[in-house]
Amino acid sequence: MTFKDFNFNEEILQAIEVMGYEKPTPIQEQAIPAILEGKDLIGSAQTGTGKTAAFVLPLLQLIANKANKSDDYIRAVVVVPTRELATQIDQQFEGFSYYTGITSIPVYGGSDGKNFIEEKNALSRGVDVVVCTPGRMIAHLNQGYVDLSRVDYLILDEADRMLDMGFMGDILRILSFMPESRQSLLFSATMPIKIRELARKILRKPTEINIAVSRPAEKVLQMAYIVYEEQKIPQITRLLHGKTNYRVLIFTETKLAARKLSDKLLRQHLDVAEIHSDLSQTEREQVLLAFRNRKINILVATNIISRGIDIEDIDLVINYNVPKEVEDYIHRIGRTARSQSEGVAITFVNPDDQFAFQAIELFLEKDIYKAKVDPEFGETPTYNPQKPNPSKPVYRKKKVFRHPRKK
Ligand code: AMP
Repeated sequence: MTFKDFNFNEEILQAIEVMGYEKPTPIQEQAIPAILEGKDLIGSAQTGTGKTAAFVLPLLQLIANKANKSDDYIRAVVVVPTRELATQIDQQFEGFSYYTGITSIPVYGGSDGKNFIEEKNALSRGVDVVVCTPGRMIAHLNQGYVDLSRVDYLILDEADRMLDMGFMGDILRILSFMPESRQSLLFSATMPIKIRELARKILRKPTEINIAVSRPAEKVLQMAYIVYEEQKIPQITRLLHGKTNYRVLIFTETKLAARKLSDKLLRQHLDVAEIHSDLSQTEREQVLLAFRNRKINILVATNIISRGIDIEDIDLVINYNVPKEVEDYIHRIGRTARSQSEGVAITFVNPDDQFAFQAIELFLEKDIYKAKVDPEFGETPTYNPQKPNPSKPVYRKKKVFRHPRKK
């Protein structure tokens, strides 16, 4: 199958060619025809599968078919959980709509007042596609200048993430400004009951597509180090030294852990930066740009960028801790081996995390290869996952809040 089989117009085909896409990915093959037919859709798929283009391309075609350029109004609204994802999706709209004249704008929180005014101007004037985070969109809607009454297309992306973040109320409120006759698409990495309920509420006879959750992981070489906590930094340092051409993303559970780890790696003369929600939007963008442009090759990140961020060619993803949710593990390792490339994902598993790690192996239905820790760093624990013992003191697992400055 090729992109020509979808009967896209010349302007869109030209942009696809410029983007270098040769053939549609499985989710694109399934989703594009359904969307072009005007069907509602519920798609279980994650980043790395090509799901963004799976809705961006048919939407552009549908908008181009209908567009009456003398009319400026909001035709499509894409609602996403994070600013990073909003920017990334907006960039795909910009890229693919280059020859079509269709306009789009990202609308997200956390930027300065100037951005708010720019967003306000665009929203009041009318722009074809709005890619927004829920809170920021509500802030604009509350002021009364946004007209969503002619929206033809609604897309909820990473819906499970949005519900986890408590955005259900905001989403329903945004929807209340739109006509019921619209076409709606919902994408989610996982399909818990809450998502099914939301889908029942807002979709009409949706086509269902399902791209197996473990799919992007197939091209990732997954490994684990079974270690004591204090062996993690020496082993990571050993791994990273001398690999100057490697692009490495390291995930930690907390901002504090990210800060500490990047300090330690800097002291080992490694080329490292950190990214988490304590940084301003501008700082985050600067760090991501430096990483993309290979000015730095190691990025220590908290979960905020584990989903949605489209950084290509990551060679190695390191989980400094075992992620609490299997979905987070899959999203994190999905940063590597994107699209056509291959990658490596390494998880550090301390004794407290063995049980959670086994849950990941059970979910993936495979044993992840346990690599040998350098003998120089001492004896390692055996891998013998035990259900956490409820009689053990619970405070071992509980997070103790410490103010970062009061170390
Ligand atoms: P996504 O799942 O939308 O985050 O896309 C993952 C990556 O695959 C992005 O870098 C896309 O640019 C790329 N991609 C999406 N569709 C295709 C395609 N048909 N051919 C090649 N690359 C693609």
